[in-house]
Amino acid sequence: MERKTISLPRLTGLTPTMESTMLKIMEEVGELAQAMGKFRGLSGERSSMEEADVARAIVSELLDVAQTATSMMFVIEDIYGFDMSDEIERHIAKLQERGYL
Ligand SMILES: [Mg+2]
Repeated sequence: MERKTISLPRLTGLTPTMESTMLKIMEEVGELAQAMGKFRGLSGERSSMEEADVARAIVSELLDVAQTATSMMFVIEDIYGFDMSDEIERHIAKLQERGYL
């Protein structure tokens, strides 16, 4: 099974909550949609961005989504005492059950 392992930090300059991190995830998903649509000219507006710059913007926003999801994982671990590595194994098992792996 090919895996993409990312390691993102706990943000120490903020005091995130379940709600603030959920809202931030949605905000970052919106920015990813902007990069995917507007910057690639799919929204009907003309885009003057170079393809490499668009790709870089997409990756940047995608990592913002991953960072905010990571922040929410830290919040959930703090509140509920979950060990996210156990949850990741549960997630992988779910994907296998569904035939995605
Ligand atoms: Mg962003």
